[in-house]
Amino acid sequence: MSITKVKERHWNKYRVWKPLSLLVLAGLTPPEWDITVIDENLGVPEYAAMPRPDLVGITAFTSQANRAYEVAAEFRSRGVLVVIGGIHATMCLAEASERVDAVVTGEAESIWAEVLKDAQQGALSRVYTGTRGEMANVPLARHDLLPTYCLGSIQTARGCPLNCSFCSVTAFNGRLLRRRPIEDVVQEFKLIQEKYVLIVDDNLIGTRKNHISGTKELFRAMIQANIRKKWIAQVTINMADDEELLSLAAKAGCLGVFIGLESPTVEGLMEVDKGFNIQKGRDFKASVQRIQEHGILVAGSFIIGLDVDKKGIGKQIADTANHCGLDALNVLFLTPLPGTRLWEKMESEDRIAAN
Ligand code: SF4
Repeated sequence: MSITKVKERHWNKYRVWKPLSLLVLAGLTPPEWDITVIDENLGVPEYAAMPRPDLVGITAFTSQANRAYEVAAEFRSRGVLVVIGGIHATMCLAEASERVDAVVTGEAESIWAEVLKDAQQGALSRVYTGTRGEMANVPLARHDLLPTYCLGSIQTARGCPLNCSFCSVTAFNGRLLRRRPIEDVVQEFKLIQEKYVLIVDDNLIGTRKNHISGTKELFRAMIQANIRKKWIAQVTINMADDEELLSLAAKAGCLGVFIGLESPTVEGLMEVDKGFNIQKGRDFKASVQRIQEHGILVAGSFIIGLDVDKKGIGKQIADTANHCGLDALNVLFLTPLPGTRLWEKMESEDRIAAN
């Protein structure tokens, strides 16, 4: 049997890190399947000229969904079975179901073996419901199935204890911070060819004491194993509050962190339910500097287009970024992604013009 897995492209032309989800599923795929993984960010192959696969698996974010459906239609027109999974298909099950043979919702690891067995028997169900399983069951990703990227990628944990209104992480991965066994993470780091790695976790460090101590344990293991990688990750601003955590992160290879500062105004932070950022009178500038003192770069992300934003918000964001001494600034338009509380709110207010 052969299987082709496609990671879809759309607005992600310049994406530079290795897409991970299909490589993880490949790690769970029995050896009788020949696997080809295609990342359209690297170029669109001539699918018709490729050997006909027995099954195509597609994953896509919301921004990539239309292209994912085009690829699905192309393979289905040739009679190839197409399965789609990932966050968009999970949140828009009815829409996805109309365009593929089967949809896998949630975390696919828990159900992937059943999908493959049913496909082999020609008896695919329309929907497979993945559950949040044990992180010890997450296999080592098959990093060897794609060429070397600017940034390799790895996941050490899923979920985030915060619940920002615009974020779909908690709907998909939950609010519990679930960690992979440290020995699995260290072993997988050693399989990665790239020198620079993106840790794709929703929130690498978490917010509570036990989260932070778990992260320190991971960093100590990475230092001891001498993984020889430089890495970047998404974290929350509380990383600045623990000198030992910062010191261990730097020693473990941390090059930079991406932090969702979200808004320069208190009203903005309240609107997106991220009052966490200013708890206990936090000063963004002092927090950013404490992180930078350990040689760790800080990229700060802000959202523009909140209901409370006033004229001049763009300049206010730029001024805040300069004042804090951010090493990089990322500004995003507020986007109601399916599955988020923001989506529900805007839909209930009849503010979503096109879907
Ligand atoms: S802190 Fe980040 S990952 Fe966590 S809910 Fe907010 S936006 Fe999502």
